[in-house]
Amino acid sequence: MTGQPALEAPLLSVRGLRKSFGDNVVLDDVDLDVQPGECVVLIGASGSGKSTLLRCINLLEQVDDGVITLAGLDITDPRVDADEVRSRTGIVFQAYNLFPHLTVLDNVTLAPRRVHKVARAEAESRALAMLERVGLAEKARARPDDLSGGQQQRVAIARAMVNSPQLLLLDEVTSALDPELVGEVLDLLGELREEGMTMILSTHEMGFARNVADTVCFLDGGRVLEQGPPAEVLGAPREPRTRQFLSRLV
Ligand code: ADP
Ligand code: MG
Repeated sequence: MTGQPALEAPLLSVRGLRKSFGDNVVLDDVDLDVQPGECVVLIGASGSGKSTLLRCINLLEQVDDGVITLAGLDITDPRVDADEVRSRTGIVFQAYNLFPHLTVLDNVTLAPRRVHKVARAEAESRALAMLERVGLAEKARARPDDLSGGQQQRVAIARAMVNSPQLLLLDEVTSALDPELVGEVLDLLGELREEGMTMILSTHEMGFARNVADTVCFLDGGRVLEQGPPAEVLGAPREPRTRQFLSRLV
């Protein structure tokens, strides 16, 4: 057959997203498209709205206005099943938020078993496969406190992936780590990206952003001021505010 290949529909589409906390407009008319397999990196100063955007996509915040569509489903429709949407958009936070009294395995199986009513044997076999994937199968019976920060964050990533999400959301997942532990987590994210995992991540690690991002998105005061390939946004930014932000990092 000849002709143009069909353009893929975006996996995630954000249109006209607005979110305020009181008088504080935190997201101001945000548009964002994420293609299947794409890695989008959010950069911007502290307070620019990166976490709030990720939390809106995971339905941890209620949006004031706008539409978020995931694989064709309007997830901002109040009638959607929020738990079901969350299982399709795994999220990992800066503080890994593992339950200290549960084993690593139980941390990973908790949501499938409690929220999604997956039988224990099935949940454990999925969880072990994910722990294997992040290189921590041998720690399944350990408690989070017995793990390094980097290992705990890798468990949190396994937990976010145990329901085979369509989209992985990662909010500054290396910011709380000692510098020597950052690499193992970034390496894992790089591998997941190579395997075709669609992800949106916020980070201050510009070297990493340059390496893994298909698209870099610069947020400034709740607006997407500039977005494009890393070579453009990081290498030759159009906007003075982007240049200013990047120059302050070095
Ligand atoms: P970033 O992740 O880029 O640092 P955030 O999304 O965390 O930015 O925050 C954007 C703005 O929203 C900040 O001014 C912050 O104080 C405010 N904010 C975030 N969460 C809340 C909340 N739950 N209640 C009130 N204000 C909030
Ligand atoms: Mg944040």
